[in-house]
Amino acid sequence: MSDPHELTVLNPATEETVATVPAASAEDVDTAVVRALRAQARWAALAGADRARLLRRFADTVDAHLEELAQLEVRQAGHTVGNARWEAGNARDLLLYAAGGAERLLGAQIPAPGGFNVTFHEPLGVVGVIAPWNFPMPIAAWGSFPALAAGNAVVLKPAETTPLTALRLAGLALEAGLPEHVFQVLPGHGHTAGRALVDHPDVAKIVFTGSTSTGREVMERCARLVKPVTLELGGKSPNVVFADADLAAALDPFSFLDNSGQDCCARTRVLVQESVFEEARAFLAEALAAVVVGDPADDKTQMGPLISRQQLDRVRSYVPEDAPALRGTAPEGPGFWFPPTVLTGERPDGRAAREEIFGPVAVLLPFADEADAVRLANDTPYGLSGSVWTRDLGRALRVSRAVRAGNLSVNSHSSVRYWTPFGGFKQSGLGRELGPDALTAFTETKNVFISTEGPAQ
Ligand code: NAD
Repeated sequence: MSDPHELTVLNPATEETVATVPAASAEDVDTAVVRALRAQARWAALAGADRARLLRRFADTVDAHLEELAQLEVRQAGHTVGNARWEAGNARDLLLYAAGGAERLLGAQIPAPGGFNVTFHEPLGVVGVIAPWNFPMPIAAWGSFPALAAGNAVVLKPAETTPLTALRLAGLALEAGLPEHVFQVLPGHGHTAGRALVDHPDVAKIVFTGSTSTGREVMERCARLVKPVTLELGGKSPNVVFADADLAAALDPFSFLDNSGQDCCARTRVLVQESVFEEARAFLAEALAAVVVGDPADDKTQMGPLISRQQLDRVRSYVPEDAPALRGTAPEGPGFWFPPTVLTGERPDGRAAREEIFGPVAVLLPFADEADAVRLANDTPYGLSGSVWTRDLGRALRVSRAVRAGNLSVNSHSSVRYWTPFGGFKQSGLGRELGPDALTAFTETKNVFISTEGPAQ
């Protein structure tokens, strides 16, 4: 029986204990919010340029500890070391981008008869950020750093399994000179610390990243307090491959295997035009067999383990042993290993084709023509991401406009750039993070009318 007051962090590649950390109670959340409120008043009173200077110093401190952060992510989350280095760099880069935003958070001046209006982007106060385990560092950064830059204080609750890099980021913020309690990280359970943060009357906004089912509950609880919420939820993204595409690039297996498939943007529905379907199947069979799965700390490894036993059991439940599939290989335990897999006998309305599996498993489905491709691409409750592969520019534009998703790429599998907006359609979420509006999402716009009327003559 695990101790509810403690979180045990396991290395998913070995099942060895990496650390144990205290789990925050509802009272701990309340204490953190009270401290955050006090710190926020002083933080918001600084000039934007002064907040920017401190955030740039924070970025320098992260940069000086990039390798340490990356190695910590490898140990707690099983990320390949190359990916983990990119993720730490992404946190640093977002700090620099947000710092620039702090200097440019400008209002407007709007003329009116008898006076003029000025608008202000005022910080919300204390922002609660709830993060999942699949990308602990980038998601902690996306929710927190633009909020800080806009003059808010942040209380961040990382996922139960992966609190260590977020805790280290909070330590580095203090080392860099950010005022105490402006950026607090509180590891804890979702049903205690997570709920306490969502329900706290002095938390002005919640940024939640996680599963659609938890997101639904968070939104319901926020509704009781009319609390704004950003939701970054699940995905089941299509990879639409037309016959004229560069097949080798389009069928890159890391479009669904990156981070062992524990990626909300994973292109797990591989839709291939009928005339090249057999060629695609043969290509994927070879590609999966060549994937190097193993020790994530080894630079040559391409895919690591799943995060936990629970996640392994979940992924297995979608892939019966006798299911028609293309399969790579994976180590035996200890560790939570699952081989790269493409299901080839799935129907478009089957469970594996419609539900988010969150493991290294894709389904391969044929389509006849453009209309059929769009219909299949949209045939899911999700709408986060996706790719369209064709050399026909008109078709690329038509299809990418017709697919109901927030982040599409044409002849590419990239989804995330800190300088472009990110978020989902349909049940993949609500609101946007990153991009040019990242800071204003953490402000209220206030309009002040100033009369220029003189005394009546
Ligand atoms: P999860 O919903 O189980 O947990 C996410 C976070 O919410 C954790 O910190 C958890 O402790 C907390 N939580 C759980 N119950 C809560 C409650 N009742 N109230 C408040 N907080 C609660 O999700 P997960 O399994 O950690 O993450 C995987 C999911 O995240 C996948 O569905 C994935 O697609 C999604 N995700 C989405 C994005 C995106 O940007 N759209 C990015 C990454 C992951």
